[in-house]
Amino acid sequence: MRLVMKFGGTAVDSSDKVRHIAQLVQSHKKGDEIVCVVSAVRGMTDGLLSIADSVKRGDKTSLDEFVKKCTNTHMQIAEGAISDKKLKSEALATVKKIISELEDVLGGIVLLGEVTTKSLDYLMSFGERLSTPIVSFALQDLGMKSEHLTGKEAGILTDSNFGEARPLMDTTKLKVSHKLEPMLKQDVVPVVTGFIGADQYGNTTTIGRGGSDYTATIIAVSIGAQEVWLWSDVDGLMTADPKLVMNAKVLKEVSFAEAMEMALFGAKYMHPRALEPVIDTKIPIRIRNTFNVKHTGTIITQNPSKESQKIVKSVTVIRHTALIDVSGGSMVGAPGTAAKIFDTLAKNRINIMMISQSPSESSISMLVRKTDLDKAITTLELSLLGKVIKQINVNDDVAVIAVVGSGMRGIKGVAAKVFGAVAKHGINVIMITQGSSELNLAFVVNDRDCEQAARALHEEFELAKGSGKG
Ligand code: ASP
Ligand code: MG
Repeated sequence: MRLVMKFGGTAVDSSDKVRHIAQLVQSHKKGDEIVCVVSAVRGMTDGLLSIADSVKRGDKTSLDEFVKKCTNTHMQIAEGAISDKKLKSEALATVKKIISELEDVLGGIVLLGEVTTKSLDYLMSFGERLSTPIVSFALQDLGMKSEHLTGKEAGILTDSNFGEARPLMDTTKLKVSHKLEPMLKQDVVPVVTGFIGADQYGNTTTIGRGGSDYTATIIAVSIGAQEVWLWSDVDGLMTADPKLVMNAKVLKEVSFAEAMEMALFGAKYMHPRALEPVIDTKIPIRIRNTFNVKHTGTIITQNPSKESQKIVKSVTVIRHTALIDVSGGSMVGAPGTAAKIFDTLAKNRINIMMISQSPSESSISMLVRKTDLDKAITTLELSLLGKVIKQINVNDDVAVIAVVGSGMRGIKGVAAKVFGAVAKHGINVIMITQGSSELNLAFVVNDRDCEQAARALHEEFELAKGSGKG
């Protein structure tokens, strides 16, 4: 079998863990061809982001300390994960070389006093660039042949939309297969940085937070892998967040469409676009836990088996959201109002998570992340208030509850059941949306009600039983 295995940041944040995943790869290597994709060590990407922020603010005090911490972390991991003297010294030299490049980059942006989106992507790439060679040397330490590559070296070509770059799939497929397939034929395990590509001018790009999953699926379609395994620190996709719903269960099997809804609705295990490349090719994805290798995890496939098809599969809660309600008589029957509102917000890079408009057309409600709220309000006030819209109302303490399951399609009474269960607990529903795909039903409640609502629905659809009603 040809496999792509992606290891998340928590799987590589200590020398023991790196050894552990090297053994994991070794145990599968016997019969399989494997490509590894590695994330940055936990905390690195956030660290790089906050350093960029400090530089923007003109604060250079934390730079030295950051570089020192990076150096120590990676040196320590490499030191403990690799026994062979020669390999260890090669690994340490590689880390040092990359760190000195990092210092140069930081020096450059300090000198300029600004961080462009282009330089930010270059800076952000250092997390993965540092973790990946360590894993590759750890594989060699166990006797496997391995080479480390950046996404750019592996052939991932993207557009120049820094921060959220999109892979140009046709060229990427060709380049990646040309690069990686000969390595596989020679029994080499390529270890590729997650999250990173390059645009047509050779600039380093990143493909969005959590993008290593995406890298894994891009590579999988390029080399015709049979499966993608996303190794992280959770057993799989779950019926609910176990922190909110105590008896939440791991889902054995979900469809691509369901997984996409779950990812979009905040299940934090997957990049929302990660499934795009594999959907057409139907390459199944497994979500597995490096700390619990006996658990088979969740498998995401085109057509899950009959037994796993339920009306509702999961209940997701997205907190830290805010509702913006814009209204005004002049919105009624005026074509283009919605377009103007959304366009204005989009131009200011504000992402709208949910939308609803009543048929009276006198108001539109939109849900945004709390972190985007201030910018959204300012933008609407500056551009549209007094013109297209008369009034803006905000409820800044709401949460979304999303009920996901492809079995809802065409089944009568699901909504009644959902809202009945919520009403039984005296919870007020503020806004409702359902896509016509009927894959999900989402509604907004006051944040203080969200836990109770999630528990009520988990109970109502008997998700803890492992076999939902219906
Ligand atoms: N290191 C990147 C991030 O934290 C990509 C990833 O981990 O998948 O967003
Ligand atoms: Mg990460």
